[in-house]
Amino acid sequence: MANVTLRNVRKIYPGGFEAIKGIDIEVGDGQFCVLVGPSGCGKSTLLRMVAGLETISSGEIDIGGRIVNAIEPAERDIAMVFQNYALYPHMSVYNNMAYGLRNRRVPESEIKTRVEDAARILELGTMLQRKPRQLSGGQRQRVAMGRAIVRQPKVFLFDEPLSNLDAKLRIAMRVEIRKLQRRLATTAIYVTHDQLEAMTLADILVVMNGGKVEQIGNPLEIYQRPATTFVASFIGAPPMNLMPIDAVRAQLLGADAVPADAGQLGIRPEDFELGDTVPPGGVGLDLRVDAIEHVGAETYVYGARQDAGNNDSLAATSNDVIVRLPGTAAPAIGTRIRAVAPRTKLHLFSADGRQRLS
Ligand code: ATP
Repeated sequence: MANVTLRNVRKIYPGGFEAIKGIDIEVGDGQFCVLVGPSGCGKSTLLRMVAGLETISSGEIDIGGRIVNAIEPAERDIAMVFQNYALYPHMSVYNNMAYGLRNRRVPESEIKTRVEDAARILELGTMLQRKPRQLSGGQRQRVAMGRAIVRQPKVFLFDEPLSNLDAKLRIAMRVEIRKLQRRLATTAIYVTHDQLEAMTLADILVVMNGGKVEQIGNPLEIYQRPATTFVASFIGAPPMNLMPIDAVRAQLLGADAVPADAGQLGIRPEDFELGDTVPPGGVGLDLRVDAIEHVGAETYVYGARQDAGNNDSLAATSNDVIVRLPGTAAPAIGTRIRAVAPRTKLHLFSADGRQRLS
């Protein structure tokens, strides 16, 4: 078991591209840390640096109290699970799981115990003699997990391990990974670009953007109080509605330090309801219903704002607002609705979106 600490870690690739621009992260013993962000933000680079598959240009990576910058991957006491599973097609499940241990000259009796234990945990006990092609995608993924588990590493590293699975299996495996990690209490770092996967798995969520940490913390706190408009629109689906807001209105909403050119107001689709009366300090938007999506338990209304130019409330330049309503709601296309949100559900950001104001 181990803490993983990254101190001012940078990566400059040969050719001069700075993929990681100084990152600090502390993952406590047994915690599940998820790195999430859009394609190209540097998540895989960072994970590969922890694994020792990429060199560290500057800064320090500490695993279990030992600085590993100059330590070979095999000596770092980590086990990595990849997106493509990387199973050996000609080997049985048993031998796939045993392979890394044999390389380390672990005695065959010990290997047998570890593989059988892992297979029991992963419900692969009856499949140990099969070849990977005789398994489903989810079972192959479990073999890849098994291979990591038998190593009994200090840290698990996961690089988008579920991205080749269909939607239903992804959800099932997501739950399995979480249960497994709780049970083994092994520190884990997990990379994904899927914000829902990130939210549901993480003890610590790290939202990355352009080689930097945009926000780090408990997933619910990040959802409830995103630090920037980038985080606000990345975490949560459909994304938070963001609209420009004038200074007077911003001050009324309790932001003291609003510059004259005001800021941006954010409201999540699920924080609206339909009503005529705007709650005190809250917001009411008059919308024309442009499109509706019924997804079963809920309905998404895509509305165009009809209050544009009304300086009294919100100066509108972006007109489209998404409102989440119960699944039974069915406003007709072209009709007008008023969506209201209470003060407690409003997020206020600086005009450039880099700072949360209230
Ligand atoms: P994805 O979700 O698409 O895998 P990512 O967040 O994992 O993206 P990285 O693969 O870490 O992103 O890449 C981060 C940045 O570094 C990208 O702009 C990428 O083009 C660049 N990069 C990655 N590998 C190299 C390399 N070997 N040489 C130069 N630049 C690289």
